[in-house]
Amino acid sequence: MNISILGAGAMGSLFGGRLAESGQQVTLLDINEAHLEAIRSQGLRLQTDSGDRRVPGLSVCRPEQATGQPDLLLVFTKTQHTEQALRSVATHIGQHTLVLSLQNGLGNAEALCRHLAKEQVMIGMTTWPGDMAGPGHVHSHGEGVVRTFSVDGVERPAHAEVAAVLDAAGLQCALDPNIWTTIWEKVAFNAALNSLCAATGCTVGQLDARPEGPALVRAVVLEVLAVAQAQGIAVDAPRCLGSVSHAIAHHRAHKPSMLQDVLAGRPTEIGAINGEVVARAREVGVAVPHTETLLGLLRLIEARAAAGADE
Ligand code: NAD
Repeated sequence: MNISILGAGAMGSLFGGRLAESGQQVTLLDINEAHLEAIRSQGLRLQTDSGDRRVPGLSVCRPEQATGQPDLLLVFTKTQHTEQALRSVATHIGQHTLVLSLQNGLGNAEALCRHLAKEQVMIGMTTWPGDMAGPGHVHSHGEGVVRTFSVDGVERPAHAEVAAVLDAAGLQCALDPNIWTTIWEKVAFNAALNSLCAATGCTVGQLDARPEGPALVRAVVLEVLAVAQAQGIAVDAPRCLGSVSHAIAHHRAHKPSMLQDVLAGRPTEIGAINGEVVARAREVGVAVPHTETLLGLLRLIEARAAAGADE
């Protein structure tokens, strides 16, 4: 399969690298010149549980320089950059190109559908972790899965092909007709852990230093799931609370990407996570006070960083 990755940071490079290793034709599209140049000159360095190696054979370029029309475009920018990135590849996306977002948060389906026919759009979720270790160098440890489905709920043979290609790259991918349940449960997880860590500076494990930590996590998870339920999406609260407890117990040193963004003074994905939950909560009349408070705190932290950058 001919695959382009739009946004080849931690996740885009991890997925692009593993797809290239499994024999697919992969082009990484990014605007980070240092990262592109490192991959051009030395290959992508991928450090995973399968080893520390260089991935040869990857094409890399800026989005507006992409040629041809791929079978699959995988969108892995941060959510706040999706629309600008999609505009820059408008001529690269053919009528038969499927476009898949595995980004966190809500609003990704709508963003893609503003630029593409619904029949081309696939949405999903991944639990694979990834971190940038430097230009051209990506880390990922542990296991993950990918779940995906078409945005219009219709299963076509091309969707099964995409899932099979990702699965054959070892990414443990399956089609999931209940994709909105899967997405909302990940949103609940991220709305609780990412924003609490980003607001407090705690690692995931440090959230249980005081009983207030797990209590706040639980409150946010239940608020987010209540919004999903009010929209008719069947979510499983014990499963979701179990996965946050597991993360607090086992991923103790992990700094969620939202905390890493705050520490680096960058804008965060709070808008696509807590922000979208609050907006949808208003539409369905569900109170989400904890989620909304965390949204406000992160907005203030982002504003302070932006003002500091301007001074
Ligand atoms: P990242 O910041 O490492 O990578 C994003 C990349 O997009 C960067 O390399 C950036 O240069 C590039 N980019 C920005 N604007 C662009 C544009 N206009 N055109 C092309 N490229 C552009 O982020 P990440 O950690 O890889 O996360 C990507 C998405 O995946 C996010 O939505 C995140 O929430 C989600 N996600 C991340 C993880 C993780 O462990 N990192 C896990 C699951 C899901």
